Amino acid sequence: MSEKVTVIGSGFASISAACYLAKSGYEVNVYEKNAQLGGRARQFVNQGFKFDMGPTWYWMPDVFERFFDDFDRKPSDYYDLERLGPAYRVYFDQDDYIDISDDLEEIKQTFEQVEPNAAEALSQFLKKAEKNYEVAIKDLVYQPGLSPLELVSKDTILEVPQFISTIHDVAKKKFKSPRLRQIIEFPVLFLGAKPSMTPAFYSFMNFADLSLGTWYPKGGMKSVVDGMIQLAEELGVIFHMNANVSKIVTNSDQKVSGIIINDKEFPVNLLVSGADYAHTESLMLKENRMYSDAYWKKKVMAPSSLLFYVGLDKKVKNVLHHTLFFDVSFDDHAKAIYDNPAWPKEPLFYASFPSITDESVAPEGKEAAIFLIPLAPDLEDTKALREQYFNIIIDRLENLTGQEIRSSIIFKESYCVQDFKDDYNSFKGNAYGMANTLMQTAFLRPKLKSKKVKNLYFTGQLTVPGPGVPPALISGKLVSDLLIKNN
Ligand SMILES: Cc1cc2nc3c(=O)[nH]c(=O)nc-3n(C[C@H](O)[C@H](O)[C@H](O)COP(=O)(O)OP(=O)(O)OC[C@H]3O[C@@H](n4cnc5c(N)ncnc54)[C@H](O)[C@@H]3O)c2cc1C
Repeated sequence: MSEKVTVIGSGFASISAACYLAKSGYEVNVYEKNAQLGGRARQFVNQGFKFDMGPTWYWMPDVFERFFDDFDRKPSDYYDLERLGPAYRVYFDQDDYIDISDDLEEIKQTFEQVEPNAAEALSQFLKKAEKNYEVAIKDLVYQPGLSPLELVSKDTILEVPQFISTIHDVAKKKFKSPRLRQIIEFPVLFLGAKPSMTPAFYSFMNFADLSLGTWYPKGGMKSVVDGMIQLAEELGVIFHMNANVSKIVTNSDQKVSGIIINDKEFPVNLLVSGADYAHTESLMLKENRMYSDAYWKKKVMAPSSLLFYVGLDKKVKNVLHHTLFFDVSFDDHAKAIYDNPAWPKEPLFYASFPSITDESVAPEGKEAAIFLIPLAPDLEDTKALREQYFNIIIDRLENLTGQEIRSSIIFKESYCVQDFKDDYNSFKGNAYGMANTLMQTAFLRPKLKSKKVKNLYFTGQLTVPGPGVPPALISGKLVSDLLIKNN
């Protein structure tokens, strides 16, 4: 009889782990507290509109290819991908924006138009960024974070200065224009920390952005979730929804013996949790936890977010599928997230209009709009604050893009700090885990395997390699490799 693995949660990391474990012959059962699978990448459907509730940017297509290739499959076996061109638009003022093309030569020309010699500066910067991508994505992020030695190779030794300087330093050195600096700093926001706290080595995110491009899976990120679930089921994984794990039961051997779901105990041989790390440990007795409350309090969490899913009765003009609104101070908003946590006075925001690319996500002639304001984790979250900030961004959207939007709103649904806590048991209501600062990278992140409970493993964005969908796929591979090696 094959050995059984129980997986908590059905985010990308859990599904990835489940696939690898099932392929290795384990009998895998996944228990998800919510009614829908996919974790933070669930879908909200209303009146014929479909919204990705979490991730909307499909970057690093090679990581997805590598994942499916491990099962002799291709992404195209499960979903259709399209490269977005232009990739995105960044607004700086009224009718004043920069479009980032899907062609690197065009991007260089755009940079040159903003600042003389910026094309050459970008070429130099991306040369380094590509090298970093090779080292990071082909090797480093596939290390399990067990030891500092994993980071030591002939490639990384030479790059030590890039771990001391930051993306902010490099952007400042290479470009004078504040606009170009913001375009260079923007991708590392996905790592959850300020560009001035993020090592320059992470410029591989810029290579992913400007060189590898922004892609769109038809039907949205939900299609990727569905594809991975289909693969998991083909491999024999069984999914259970509405299955909230309320307790992890351990025995005197320091092993998990069961999990409690709806007051019923289910026996466990091996347990992998893809739920938020701090939450998973809170389901056990204190003496079985690796990390104390004080440990978590000190960690730099990735931001939370205020999101709106809005159905509009018309097509929106002057925006692209991905549109960023950087018309206010980047630094002031970053301070409100990281230095003095508070609702930002003037928020930056991001808007996605997937129905520009994909007619299947909104009724004909209408637009599906997603708005996101990054926020410090654990902020006060009230209906009044959500409404206040909705009005701020709609006013700005109308003003910057020169059109009336309000009267076309059919419905809006908000999502914020408290929802992240209620729906995902998210620590402090973080949206995408724990930031990848220098001191929270690789072997310095929470471990994939418990040192206190013998058969307990962790995966997902709070452990290695970190936040984002591609890292979540990798995290699932790392935890399954470790589990297989140990059993
Ligand atoms: C608003 C937003 C925008 C983002 N944008 C992007 C983007 O554009 N591109 C990108 O690459 N990444 C993006 N990310 C990050 C990316 O979505 C995440 O890093 C990734 O989806 C995390 O996957 P995970 O498996 O680690 O965790 P999760 O998706 O959080 O999965 C954990 C699962 O565990 C379940 N769970 C928790 N507690 C229990 C319990 N007690 N019992 C049973 N189940 C439980 C939860 O319900 C959840 O389903 C975004 C995230 C958010 C929130």
